[in-house]
Amino acid sequence: MKYDYLIVGAGLFGACFAQQMAAAGKSVLVIEKRNHIGGNVYTEEIEGIQVHTYGAHIFHTNDKTVWDYVNRFAEFNRYTNSPVANYHGELYSLPFNMYTFHKMWGVVTPREAEAKIAQQRAAAGITQPRNLEEQAISLVGTDIYERLIKGYTEKQWGRPCSQLPAFIIQRLPVRLTFDNNYFTAKYQGIPIGGYTAMVDKMLAGIDVRLKVDYLENKADWDAMAKTVVYTGSIDSYFQFRYGPLSYRSVRFETEVLDMPNFQGNAVVNYTDAQTPYTRIIEHKFFEFGTQPKTVISREYSSEWQPGEEPYYPVNDEENNALYQRYKALARKEKNTIFGGRLGEYRYYDMDAVLLSARKLASQELD
Ligand code: UDP
Repeated sequence: MKYDYLIVGAGLFGACFAQQMAAAGKSVLVIEKRNHIGGNVYTEEIEGIQVHTYGAHIFHTNDKTVWDYVNRFAEFNRYTNSPVANYHGELYSLPFNMYTFHKMWGVVTPREAEAKIAQQRAAAGITQPRNLEEQAISLVGTDIYERLIKGYTEKQWGRPCSQLPAFIIQRLPVRLTFDNNYFTAKYQGIPIGGYTAMVDKMLAGIDVRLKVDYLENKADWDAMAKTVVYTGSIDSYFQFRYGPLSYRSVRFETEVLDMPNFQGNAVVNYTDAQTPYTRIIEHKFFEFGTQPKTVISREYSSEWQPGEEPYYPVNDEENNALYQRYKALARKEKNTIFGGRLGEYRYYDMDAVLLSARKLASQELD
């Protein structure tokens, strides 16, 4: 055995775990199927702009230890996420706050906004929200649900809101203040120079091999280390024995435009049902870019098919139950630990991924 740890996947979970173990003096090998490190936080430079190749990633956390940790590997800018919603050409502020309520109803004071929401909630007659639709209406009323939530969510998840878990919408704050900051986190920003450079620094001095498919030669790779940390999808690890888990996949149409400013904001969500994409990302605005050109990505959501990149786990009841069956198999797997978004089948924010990887590393070192 050449290594203490073989880490399958050079995304945030794998890179953080590798960094922690290497820092503790363990020998570590990271292998990665793609031709680059960073997983889905990977960024590449186009026209001097850091492009978020696999979708926008905005770092935010309430955890000081995580914030201090990432700041060891990158300097963060002061980017604050304030997406704009476009509903049939009408623009609304996100997340749902006094600017949104004013635009929607003409209300001026928090009291008026509150009364409007309460009235719509009462008319809908929801006492105990059982799904995303009911949760959304009880939080912000039917008008906002119809214009800013329903179309976007159903495009993103490919399922009716009445069949989606409520927790998805609980990610979004509702505020009775004039505050367009999407996140409530204490710390927020984008690594200057891109996420790839940050992950590269985490992996400094660690053996990394790219374009390597672990599952194709599993036995050979397993023989190289005492412990395997697997961050790929848990169902593929077990050859889909109980059938595939559902994921949403995302496709990006990226264009370089010969103009300095296309939409005036990093993120514009298209919240109607007809526009085929969910949002347009204008990458330069994550870093206050002043380049003469701009790069935009239209984001299209679809149900994952084998052979595509799985993005979001669909954490509905059926899939969570199926995941539990795979998890039971994973527990019996000798010397192998499953981690990260795909290994644990979780809709993970970046800070939670890092917390989880560091926790696992300290458990291993205990
Ligand atoms: N959402 C919405 N309208 C929006 C933005 C978000 O209804 O304009 C809801 C939607 O249900 C979505 C969830 O909030 O699935 C989380 O969205 P977010 O953009 O935070 O998710 P991300 O894809 O960035 O993880």
